Amino acid sequence: MAPHFILMKKLFFIMVLLGSISVNAQSIDKYFESIRNNTAGLIAFFSAMPKGGDLHNHFSGSIYAETYISYVVQKDYFIDTSNLKVDTFKNNSDCLRFSQLEKMKILPAVKQRLIQKWSVKDYNGVSYPSDLQFFETFSGFGIANNSFRSIETGLLELKQRAQRENVTYIETMFTSIPCDNTKSIDAGYNNILENAQGRFDEAYTATTLEQLYQQIEELNVKSCAANFNSSLESLHNRLKIDDSTFTMRYQNYVTRVVPPVDVFKALVLAFESANSCPLIVGVNIVAPENNETSMRDYWLHMQMFRFCHSKYPNVKYSMHAGELTLGLVKPEELTWHITAAVRTAGANRIGHGVDMPYETKCYDLLKFMAKTNTAIEINLYSNEFILKVKEDQHPFNMYKEFNVPIVICTDDAGVLRSNLIQQYVLLAKRYKNVTYRDIKKYVYNSIEYSFIKEPAIKKKLKEQLTSRFEHFEKEVLSAHQ
Ligand SMILES: [Zn+2]
Repeated sequence: MAPHFILMKKLFFIMVLLGSISVNAQSIDKYFESIRNNTAGLIAFFSAMPKGGDLHNHFSGSIYAETYISYVVQKDYFIDTSNLKVDTFKNNSDCLRFSQLEKMKILPAVKQRLIQKWSVKDYNGVSYPSDLQFFETFSGFGIANNSFRSIETGLLELKQRAQRENVTYIETMFTSIPCDNTKSIDAGYNNILENAQGRFDEAYTATTLEQLYQQIEELNVKSCAANFNSSLESLHNRLKIDDSTFTMRYQNYVTRVVPPVDVFKALVLAFESANSCPLIVGVNIVAPENNETSMRDYWLHMQMFRFCHSKYPNVKYSMHAGELTLGLVKPEELTWHITAAVRTAGANRIGHGVDMPYETKCYDLLKFMAKTNTAIEINLYSNEFILKVKEDQHPFNMYKEFNVPIVICTDDAGVLRSNLIQQYVLLAKRYKNVTYRDIKKYVYNSIEYSFIKEPAIKKKLKEQLTSRFEHFEKEVLSAHQ
């Protein structure tokens, strides 16, 4: 065969190949647009679509109430039938064992009421503040989430659900680290720190934190962190959480509603632990941002994160910031939380970021987030339920316009009776400018902007996404020919 003929033949095949790729890409885009306003069609589409990771995932809030209820029933704990408070002991005459309820044939009805109490199921949107309905569930089911047995069950539940929903990675906010060693730290530092906050005195705050840090270090907190890390590693390995189709990593968190010294002790431990365990990939700060203490100490918390970053520069952290809206707090408090988390504390990712339009110089902040690759974790249904912020009140499109890296997450799928699929459905229905290509980008972002420490695992998860997307697109197209 003449060489020029061979060359032409090769070119022809390349053109066919390119042609078929672009036809496929156009077709999947076209199909996606055809179901844009069809919720059931979108559910089916996003159920089958590979979704990569869920990077804003609270462990205890992601477990469905039914699991917690099975646990307390099986333990035969007491339940106060007047207020549905579950405990290990009898508080008053209204407290009955679950086995007694069964004999009385009222257990199914009480279980239904517990599901309503421990999640947002059947909530009517008016009879109680939605943020309280949401946050109070945690103290309710806490009793069922404090033993090894229930934690094991929860981890396996999250893994199995993820696998069924085409989610290959979860980065879960797992727990705070207990450490009795730090009990002797002088609570007098609370006043010193509060006073420094009153003056916005950064230098004095840093000096005080350094003194506290030295004291904490002397109390052998490293051993607390090491004990925690080894028990988490053995649990993770024993349950075989990671396998060829699924990976889980953990964030330590601190709760923001306690006095400053307690936040700082917990934060040092969280960083110490995350600095020395491959499975613990980051740190976070949780609990309602509009809580009185959270609001009062927000500035201090930012200084604490900045301080810990100087001690543990390799530890990544995502921060709940700007989970606020007009009416929930005073308007002036809406102007600086994301700014401080990004610019002062140096967060690697921001959780929620809902008050962005209210932030002072928000365009500069958005540009800065894009430039520094500070990803935004978007939690659409959570924001709708807790804050009543949705559709064009939500700053999603501001983040998109300024090219801030976007990841789509669940927050608390168990409490919210939701899942990751629903978040993509809401995204597609509400923001018609978001293309299938944008969505694919967000899925890849969920691996790219994860805090996974091992480059080989990140690479593997991205490669898996590519082959899963190829398979998914082929299946969708062949089903709708
Ligand atoms: Zn959250």
